[in-house]
Amino acid sequence: MLEGKTALIYGVANDRSLAWAIAQTLAGAGARLALTYQGGRMQRPVTELAATLPDALCLDCDVTDDEQIQSVADAVERELGGLDILVHSVAFARKDELAGRFVDTSRGGYQLAQEVSAYSLVAVTRPVLPLFEKRGGGSVIALTYLGAERVVPNYNVMGIAKAALEAAVRYLAADLGPSNVRVNGISAGPVKTLAARGISGFNQILSHVEELAPLRRNITAEDVGNTALFLASDLSRSMTGEVLHVDSGYHIMAL
Ligand code: NAP
Repeated sequence: MLEGKTALIYGVANDRSLAWAIAQTLAGAGARLALTYQGGRMQRPVTELAATLPDALCLDCDVTDDEQIQSVADAVERELGGLDILVHSVAFARKDELAGRFVDTSRGGYQLAQEVSAYSLVAVTRPVLPLFEKRGGGSVIALTYLGAERVVPNYNVMGIAKAALEAAVRYLAADLGPSNVRVNGISAGPVKTLAARGISGFNQILSHVEELAPLRRNITAEDVGNTALFLASDLSRSMTGEVLHVDSGYHIMAL
């Protein structure tokens, strides 16, 4: 489905990362990939993962640094020629702000969560627009969570960041639609990853979803990869500004 296409994926930390499941699915469908990791300590594990994919690039990038983001776009242009797919699978909040009362969120913690988890979608999209243009369009996919729409205990400041991220998906979709660039979100159910382990009481969230979701099971990272493949491909060519829930139906339940 993606033969001849190229994809840039932000947010691989290890083999449990949702970004890694997406990378494997897109590569399996024929796309050539560029993956980013954050900082030197992540270089080795992510390069080792990337080596298992055909001809994948591996690039260092902290999404709070515009120069690094531009270097990634330049490297992708140089090595891959153009870009068809951009995946944003990045989020961060201080651990102490993912527990307790939301009202105690600090100014600095709020700004940090917004910058890394929401503004970064805008920051990584802008420099690749000329690369999308070379291909006649593109697909941007961002990872979000139900905590953007409803109150999830302990998710706190990250819920506000995800609400901003989902709004950014809509504003970017409106801006970029005339250039045939589509922007969509995947609202994934809970999956045990490095980032998820930082949320206080995460195991209880998993049990709760398993008990109450219409499908009575938790999702897998592969479920997210498959939905990303759909959003990356021409099968979704007339969808933009949408947030798809991949959560065993949990979001439809009131009680
Ligand atoms: P993950 O493997 O820990 O991925 C999070 C990624 O964000 C890591 O690669 C992390 O890199 C990166 N990151 C954090 N700060 C960064 C920065 N300043 N610059 C560049 N990268 C940075 O966890 P994940 O669960 O797969 O998370 C991926 C996305 O899915 C996130 O947006 C998350 O909110 C979303 N999501 C997750 C779940 C879930 O239950 N797991 C559910 C719904 C949505 P480092 O590790 O090197 O810091």
